[in-house]
Amino acid sequence: MTVMPTDSASVPPTAGAGRYAPSPSGDLHLGNLRTALLAWLFARSTGRRFVLRIDDLDRVRPGAEQRQLSDLAALGLDWDGPVLHQSDRLHRYDEAVDRLTAAGLTYECFCTRREIQQAATAPHGPQGAYPGTCRDLTPAEREERRAAGRPGALRLRSARTDFEITDRLHGKYRGPVDDLVLRRGDGLPAYNLTVVIDDAEHGVDQVVRGDDLLPSTPRQAYLATLLDLPVPEYAHVPLVLNTAGQRLAKRDGAVTLADRRDRGDTVRDVVGMLAASLGSSGGRADELLTGFDPDRLPRSPWILTPDSLVSTAGGP
Ligand code: GLU
Repeated sequence: MTVMPTDSASVPPTAGAGRYAPSPSGDLHLGNLRTALLAWLFARSTGRRFVLRIDDLDRVRPGAEQRQLSDLAALGLDWDGPVLHQSDRLHRYDEAVDRLTAAGLTYECFCTRREIQQAATAPHGPQGAYPGTCRDLTPAEREERRAAGRPGALRLRSARTDFEITDRLHGKYRGPVDDLVLRRGDGLPAYNLTVVIDDAEHGVDQVVRGDDLLPSTPRQAYLATLLDLPVPEYAHVPLVLNTAGQRLAKRDGAVTLADRRDRGDTVRDVVGMLAASLGSSGGRADELLTGFDPDRLPRSPWILTPDSLVSTAGGP
C-alpha cells in the first residue's frame, strides 16, 4: 500500500508538526491545559508547526469546542492552519478501512462487550486482548449473526501480538497489539484508527499526549506501518492526579480556567501554576519556551492537593 494523499483541508506536510487533539466533551481542566502546553512547547521548541484537531466523533458537548479554543488561546498557545475536525474526515477513515479490507486484513466481529470480557484471553495473546472469537467465522456463521440483527464491528486481522515504540520520556516501550476495532458496531471509525490517519495526513511527526494513552500506542504504530504511514515520535507526559491518585476531574475543585478566574486568579496565575509544576516559571506560554528541556520534565504525575485547588488570589 502507498501513503495516502493529503486532502485539501489538511495542513501541507512540510516541516513536521506537533498537535493537540482534545475531545469536545467539556471544559479543559488543569491536566488537559498542562498537556496542551507541553505539546505546544515540544513543537515550538523544535521549530514544528502546531496543529489543533478536535476529536469530535464521540462525546460532543455543545459549546465545549469554542471554550476549549478560547482557553488555549488565553494561555498563549497558537496553532497553524484551520482547526481540524474529525467529523469532516469520515471518508478518509472509510478509505483506509477499505484498503485494509481489500488486503484481507479485516474481519467482522459480532461480540458484545460482555462476551469479550467473559471470554478467556487467547492462549498466546496479550493480557486483555480480544480473544479472536469471530476471526474465523464461516460465511454462513457470519450471515447467521447478521440475520439475528447483531451489529458487526470491523476488526484488524493482526499478524502480531506486540509492537515496540520509542518514547521521548519512556524510552523503548513494547506493548500489546490485538485484533483492534477499526469500525465500531455503530458504524463510526474507532479512535485507534482515526488518530493514525489524521496525524499522518496532517504532517504530525511528534505526538505529545497524556501517558494514559501510552498502552494504546503500539497498536497505533503497528497500524501506521500496515497503512505505509510514518510512525511519529512520541512523548507521553505524566497526568495530573488528585490526592486519591485519581485522574483530575471537575469534582476536585477549581480545575478549569473559568473556575480559576471566577475565584480571582488571572491567566498569568494559572500559567504560573502549570509552569511551576513543570519546574519552570512564566505567565504566558512563550515565556516558557526559552530553556524548555524535555529531559528535565518531571516523570511522575503532578498531584494536585486541595490547597493548590483553592485560589491563591482569594476566593469569593
Ligand atoms: N482526543 C483524545 C483525548 O482527548 C486524545 C487523542 C490523542 O492525543 O491521541 O483523549
